[in-house]
Amino acid sequence: MSEQMIRVLIAGPRGKMGKEAVKMVKETEHFSLVAVIDRKNGGKKLRELEGQPDIDVPVYDDLRTCVSEVEADVLIDLTRPEAGKKHLEIALEYGIRPVVGTTGFSDEDIEDYSRIAEEKEIGAVIAPNFAVGAILMMKFAQMAAKYMPDVEIIEKHHDQKLDAPSGTAMKTAQMIKEVRASKKQGHPDEKEDLQGARGGDYDGVRVHSVRLPGLVAHQEVLMGATGQTLSIRHDTIDRSAFMPGVKMAVEMVMKLDILVYGLENLME
Ligand code: NAP
Repeated sequence: MSEQMIRVLIAGPRGKMGKEAVKMVKETEHFSLVAVIDRKNGGKKLRELEGQPDIDVPVYDDLRTCVSEVEADVLIDLTRPEAGKKHLEIALEYGIRPVVGTTGFSDEDIEDYSRIAEEKEIGAVIAPNFAVGAILMMKFAQMAAKYMPDVEIIEKHHDQKLDAPSGTAMKTAQMIKEVRASKKQGHPDEKEDLQGARGGDYDGVRVHSVRLPGLVAHQEVLMGATGQTLSIRHDTIDRSAFMPGVKMAVEMVMKLDILVYGLENLME
């Protein structure tokens, strides 16, 4: 039996992630790209946008207009939090299943959207990291933190990233919080001579953000105990690393009737 064709919208097709998503959807036999949302190119066709494939897909500058004219099953959002939130609300309102890679959502946002998805019985996925290796890094870090509870996270990203710390670092710190008692790390009397030198503090876990050109997305979780240290590290070398996860989310969101936060909750 042939797989059901999934009609996909992409918001942010000109972005670094959006471009990869356009390529992935185009190359997936049972996905059909039905429109894209790009605030600067409404009324054009995708083929008219620089670096895009030669396909006759309409470009809308506004999601609401798009969904009132185009039938779609899933919206992939790879924009910025302010646009991502608006898009998520509109998608849920119109019964289109959102798959959101945009980062910068708060715990309250996730709770609000989970409630709406549950009320409407519609699937949604929000994942701050679609790279399977990064999910494994977070899971391994959570396992290790149970036995080595002194943890610092160093995340490194390209210098165009707007939010800090990264969604992945926040998610890692949250997962670590689930398995260890709250604790203050470092010397009880330590003081910073340079503000921020000890990084952000999430329930005692110190989080450090590095931003440099040339980097993509990297994270190291460092643990220390008497006479030993453990480092768990993941490096994203290319943004194509995120696409198998986005593809899996688009397939799985069709079967969900709740919001799932985090790719790890879609993986067995
Ligand atoms: P990017 O290259 O800067 O692309 C962002 C795109 O969103 C651009 O095309 C931009 O278009 C558009 N955009 C920005 N603000 C908008 C708004 N208010 N309304 C509509 N469109 C808007 O960024 P990127 O590296 O592709 O990342 C996109 C998002 O994905 C970020 O939130 C990033 O943190 C996240 N991310 C997630 C993962 C994951 O695995 N979940 C991995 C990497 C990145 P304009 O030119 O019009 O501004």
